Amino acid sequence: MAGKYNILCALCLIMLCACNPTRTAFPDVNSIELKKETDKQRWEVAKKQWKKDQRHRKMMMEKQQRLFNVSDKIANAAIDMCTKVAVDSSDFCIYDFEVVNSRSINAWADGKKISITTAMMNFTKNDEDLAIVLGHEVAHNMMQHQSASTKNSLIGSFIGALADETAGSYGYNTKKSLQKAGQQMSLALFSKDMEREADYVGLYITRNSGYDISNAADLWRRLSLRDLKNKEAVVIADSHPTNPERFVALEKITDEITNKISNGEEILPTQKQLASNNNL
Ligand SMILES: [Zn+2]
Repeated sequence: MAGKYNILCALCLIMLCACNPTRTAFPDVNSIELKKETDKQRWEVAKKQWKKDQRHRKMMMEKQQRLFNVSDKIANAAIDMCTKVAVDSSDFCIYDFEVVNSRSINAWADGKKISITTAMMNFTKNDEDLAIVLGHEVAHNMMQHQSASTKNSLIGSFIGALADETAGSYGYNTKKSLQKAGQQMSLALFSKDMEREADYVGLYITRNSGYDISNAADLWRRLSLRDLKNKEAVVIADSHPTNPERFVALEKITDEITNKISNGEEILPTQKQLASNNNL
């Protein structure tokens, strides 16, 4: 009974509070006025978003135009070099180029297309820098690094699987760890050489496209230094970080190309001397 009395008292108090009038004469807002102001605020938000979208569209169009201008020259050089350099020239070394809106400083090649992020485009100080990055990526496609990497990964995986099986026959349960390790090791070992080759062939492509390559080593050095500041900031194509070795090698490549130009030689990458019995 006491409980019911307490609840009744509480309800009365709430009602008294609710009915208690305020002391000032603040204005009422009717539904028409409320809708008008609500619409106005919604319009302002929509307008801000539209302006933001327009700025983004303009930025992307400018990036695409810049990429088109530079990639047009790079693509022409690649097509001209194709039959003499490419692993397989059946695609005539014709690749698409695209800008990807991203804060990550990155560029990559998938065998058919070259992708570059808006952050990487901002990082390249001028068109010469951009041409060096594009030349590197085109070289990956031209030398068929994507398919070679896949094949090598499969071979590493196969060898690792055999090792897992052998260990299993001796009673060790490796849980396929050797297969995974074989795959990763083969990828890591092979990709370093592919990066070196992409730097080498890429600089020839860039030079043949008409761009100055004298700052190539400095560009990769800038990327390398940025990488040291923020380990996640710079990953150039295929997730391989830049390094001092790359800087030194690029200086050598630049000298090699300069010497070929001075000697009136064809500006093409030097091919490895194949062993005389390699066709046996
Ligand atoms: Zn690369």
